Amino acid sequence: MTDSLQTADAPTVETVAPERDLMSKFDGLIAERQALLDSGVRDPFAIVMEQVLSPTEAVIKGKKTILLGTYNYMGMTFDPDVIQAGKDALDQFGSGTNGSRMLNGTFRDHMEVEEALREFYGTTGAIVFSTGYMANLGMISTLVGKGEYVILDADSHASIYDGCKQGYAEIVRFRHNDIADLDKRLGRLPKEAGKLVVLEGVYSMLGDIAPLKDMVAVAKKHGAMVLSDEAHSMGFYGPNGRGVYEDQGCEGDVDFIVGTFSKSVGTVGGFCVSNHPKFEAIRLACRPYIFTASLPPSVVATAATSIRKLRHAHNKRQHLWENARRVHNGLTELGFRLGTETPQSAIIAVLLPTQEQAVGIWQALLELGLYVNMARPPATPAGMYLLRCSLCAEHTPEQVEQIIAMFAQAGRSMGVIA
Ligand code: PMP
Repeated sequence: MTDSLQTADAPTVETVAPERDLMSKFDGLIAERQALLDSGVRDPFAIVMEQVLSPTEAVIKGKKTILLGTYNYMGMTFDPDVIQAGKDALDQFGSGTNGSRMLNGTFRDHMEVEEALREFYGTTGAIVFSTGYMANLGMISTLVGKGEYVILDADSHASIYDGCKQGYAEIVRFRHNDIADLDKRLGRLPKEAGKLVVLEGVYSMLGDIAPLKDMVAVAKKHGAMVLSDEAHSMGFYGPNGRGVYEDQGCEGDVDFIVGTFSKSVGTVGGFCVSNHPKFEAIRLACRPYIFTASLPPSVVATAATSIRKLRHAHNKRQHLWENARRVHNGLTELGFRLGTETPQSAIIAVLLPTQEQAVGIWQALLELGLYVNMARPPATPAGMYLLRCSLCAEHTPEQVEQIIAMFAQAGRSMGVIA
């Protein structure tokens, strides 16, 4: 193309170095994925739900499939009151807020959902973020600054690691769920420095829970504040469904609880609740709260309705635990190696030695009509390959038996169980 405006004295840009393709760093990943697809399996990370029929069933590649790999623990996504609240909010407030909570993005239902959270958790403060990822990113990077310390479990969720990276505090890791290691590492830090210990109620890869009571006691002994991420326990752990920290009786000592709307609540969003008298100041300083648009009105309206219903969802809670216990026992009896010896949460991880076996069973299950999560390094601890099953309160006893039978068939066809 000729440029008619170009004149004889227009500056010319000389190349002084060859262009380096920044995308070339992904060559290894691209090749690895291609090798997997060339072996004839479906891509476990490119599943499309063509229709969603209920909290426990969807159509995938034209086939009706039982969902055992979503975090829809309490099955709230199709609750008629939740859906109606979303429709009403769409009608009354429109589809989006077009701005930050700090400016034009706070609508009636952002206030409502924060009130619902304060009631649910029995706290004086609640702040809603756009996702759970952003809640961890924002809380950790804002709470701990230069010259202070954040102490985290080695198996922490990516959003906790990223929250540490986003801030300026020193990062100290301790061995997963190791109380003595936490004690030792805290003991090495300067006594006067501010410290935040970050824990999770349920660790989502293996489905194991933290010995929170003892860990929180150790943190307090060293003068550290504590944040617990209860993303995978909300709704069904503890007398009020607040989480593992409530179940283990350490409510008074956990300073900040982080959670998400994307699991038991059944929509999207994140939050932090606290009784700290200065908690509201987070809104003035937290970049992932300030510099992003707030959640759409329909989303916060569905969340508020769902959280209020979860407070009284005792039957669902009981049913979810029954389902988790039955699937855990069933898979153990079949001879699968699981992430925990006893059912500790609604997540049951089936451990497999190789990627080939993991993908093979994953695909066999899908063809039988069962969807589970495939998880692999770097998301998993210790280089493990996992088939992650997450139960829903709405799985029927018949579905639960079908799930166990499908695992038996898929496991035998791949030679993983006898
Ligand atoms: N914390 C934990 C422990 C999680 O497992 C997740 C998501 N899987 C998050 C936070 C992030 O939540 P969200 O999906 O709302 O971003």
